[in-house]
Amino acid sequence: MPTLVAASRGGRALPMIADFLTGIYALVIVLGVYFLPLVIAVNRKVPNVGSVAVINVFLGWTLVGWVIALAMALRSVPKKPELVPETPKTATAQAISPSGLMYRECPHCKEQMRRDASVCPHCQRDSDPWSKDGDRWWQLQDGERRYWDEQTQQWTKLPIART
Ligand SMILES: [Zn+2]
Repeated sequence: MPTLVAASRGGRALPMIADFLTGIYALVIVLGVYFLPLVIAVNRKVPNVGSVAVINVFLGWTLVGWVIALAMALRSVPKKPELVPETPKTATAQAISPSGLMYRECPHCKEQMRRDASVCPHCQRDSDPWSKDGDRWWQLQDGERRYWDEQTQQWTKLPIART
């Protein structure tokens, strides 16, 4: 009876394929859960990814190892220091070098140069140097002293009273 044979063959083959697929599916899930700590650690960019990987791979089959790996993966990540935005070169004359020297903007090339310098190190051109009176910078403009207001970044005719 050929029809019966064919039916029975098909009847066996289909469950086998189904079992196979179920097996792979289950394996993927098990592996996914097994390596969950490592996946979390990589995604969170924790600093000890290597340790998490070792514990996860070699001790993950013990529940304790897996839990430890998970705990390490979930550990709080130390915050990276936020990048300080670079001050635009053209912005201000407020830049202070690490050595404490005050800088101003070269009127010719807009690069930063020392306030008390008259020759720009970048374009080698001359400009009127600033002078210092106490902690205030001033420059002769139109025959008068003009003081540099660090707050407003502008020249003022009169020095603001120091507090
Ligand atoms: Zn210059």
